[in-house]
This record gives sequence, C-alpha cells and structure tokens, in this order.
Amino acid sequence: MYTLPKLPYDVNALEPYIDGRTVEIHHGKHHQTYVNNLNKALEKYPELFEVPLEELLADLTKVPEDIRTAVKNNGGGHYNHSFYWQILKPGNDAKPTPVIGKAIDRDFGSFEEFKKAFTEAALTQFGSGYAWMVVTPENKLKVIKTSNQDSPFGEGKPILVIDVWEHAYYLKYQNRRAEYIEMFFNIINWEQVEKFYLEVTK
Ligand code: MN
Repeated sequence: MYTLPKLPYDVNALEPYIDGRTVEIHHGKHHQTYVNNLNKALEKYPELFEVPLEELLADLTKVPEDIRTAVKNNGGGHYNHSFYWQILKPGNDAKPTPVIGKAIDRDFGSFEEFKKAFTEAALTQFGSGYAWMVVTPENKLKVIKTSNQDSPFGEGKPILVIDVWEHAYYLKYQNRRAEYIEMFFNIINWEQVEKFYLEVTK
C-alpha cells in the first residue's frame, strides 16, 4: 500500500512564499486523496504494488485497462506531489549549487535564461498541470510542461517541478499565478535538484 510521505519541513516553514494553510490542505487533503485513490485502484491487482510507481507511469500499457486512467491520474498525483515536496525548502534566497548551476549555464546560456523558460512554461500551462526541468536521454536539461497529473517521463527524467494547479497557490495568490512562480524561486531546494541531476546522469 502507498502512504502519504511526511513533509521534510513544518507546514509553516515555506512562509511567506507558500502559506501554511495551503501546504496543510495541499499535502494533507489533496495529496492524501491521490494516495487513497491509487491504493483503491490497485486493490484489484495487488501484484502491481510490487512494481515501482515510476515504471507503471512511464509505461501505462503495463496497467490493466480498467484501472489505467485511475492509475494515471492518482499514481501521477502521488508521484508528482512527492517530487514537489522534495524540491522545496525553507529559506529566501535559493541559488543553484555548482554542478547543476554549470549544467544550466551550458544548456540554457545562463540562469536568467533558464528562469525565463521555466517561468514561461509554468505560466502558459493552460489549466491545471506542472512545469518541469528534465534531463533528456541525451543528458541535456530541458524545460517542459504537463497537464493534469500526467507524467514527464516521455521527455526525460525529472529533476525539478512546480505545481501550477490552483490548489497550490490560490489561498495566498488567488489568480496571480505569475507571482507564485516568482516567489517559488526563493524556496527551491537546489541541493536536492543537484542530487537528482547527479543520480539520473550517472
Ligand atoms: Mn497539487
């Protein structure tokens, strides 16, 4: 059975950029519901609990048709949120660590260019979804966006994500998604992003 991962920080720790009430509901209610519904969907095929979630999401043909949509949405919801919580950390002046910083300069030209591309993707994701930085099969960094709870694996291996569903920011920012994205850059856990980068480029 899948369980809700504990947050690596207190619910209020991301303030003032993401308020405690938002984190509490986002993690405790939204994320929990994806976990519950994923477990419910897999009950019929308990052998699938043994397959890593990432593997199921990367190739949904491995999932029986009658639960495929449920696994895509709720498995995706669980995976994407688990990823999101990990790449955030309390603070106010997050800066890329050396290895990932160099890779960003190499593939985007500069950090400012990367920030522009990531912000643009997050801002223009129509409706609910995510913007990601992934490492492509050619080991290049790339910014992409996905809808709903779709997975990024078709484009590469994820190392950074921003949730742009309204539930991620509406209480504090209402319709001002651009402001939420700008503030998000203060609380990126670049040590963790670099760790993911090193893992997937090994
Ligand atoms: Mn969310």
